[in-house]
Amino acid sequence: MNVERIPVLSDNYIFLLHDSNPDSEQEARSMPFAAVVDPAEADPVLQRLEQLGAELVAIFNTHHHGDHVGGNPQLLQQFPNALVYGGVEDRGRIPGQKVFLQEGDTVQFGTRRGNVIFVPGHTRAHIAYYFPPEMGHLGELFCGDTLFAGGCGRLFEGTPQQMVESLSKLRALPDATRVWCAHEYTLKNLQFALTVDSTNPDLQERWQQVKAKRDRHQPTIPSTIGIEKLTNPFLRWDMPELQASVNHSDPVRAFARLRGMKDQF
Ligand code: ZN
Ligand code: FE
Repeated sequence: MNVERIPVLSDNYIFLLHDSNPDSEQEARSMPFAAVVDPAEADPVLQRLEQLGAELVAIFNTHHHGDHVGGNPQLLQQFPNALVYGGVEDRGRIPGQKVFLQEGDTVQFGTRRGNVIFVPGHTRAHIAYYFPPEMGHLGELFCGDTLFAGGCGRLFEGTPQQMVESLSKLRALPDATRVWCAHEYTLKNLQFALTVDSTNPDLQERWQQVKAKRDRHQPTIPSTIGIEKLTNPFLRWDMPELQASVNHSDPVRAFARLRGMKDQF
């Protein structure tokens, strides 16, 4: 499974999944096939599918916001058989949704099977798709607006308690898991992180790397769970240094305080 980034709008990424391995079983099909995660827009996806000569078979939505589902209707016009996946709680909010997923469900793409993780907080229905590592392939996490590189999503429909539980599930994934989040917010996120975790050497080093990449207009996505655990303040609510800088030792209250500070940043 190859993952390609398609940058759209001001800072969104659409992820296109396809399998270019000619030995894989879908070779027997008449046309290579592809899936897309959170298509904010249709045109750039359709262009890339045409280049690949690929048929769109699935749209994996993480949540109902327009910058994640905006391209659904036009993609379905072109590929009426594409299955639209989303969280069961998003019923009625995701255009064209056909599959209603909850924690523990699985989705199939080619030879890869993905696990659905329920991660409410940014919205009450938000899900993430996790494809565990297999046969020399890395684990892949598509987490929408829940976990960002160096940050996390705003709480629009959920509580700090829910978000801490959701992020705990993602934090428990293997360190090597690649994190494909839906926005290029990393630089701003790390700028904030440095204000609350200034003595963290891993964070300082990451800041330098991310700054250099953005100066060259390069993407900072994917990240990994391992990097996030070391540098993302929103996964570090139980670290004493961080609790000290937000003046709370209770994880949920520390997280809530941190999220509130970031909202003002
Ligand atoms: Zn969103
Ligand atoms: Fe978004």
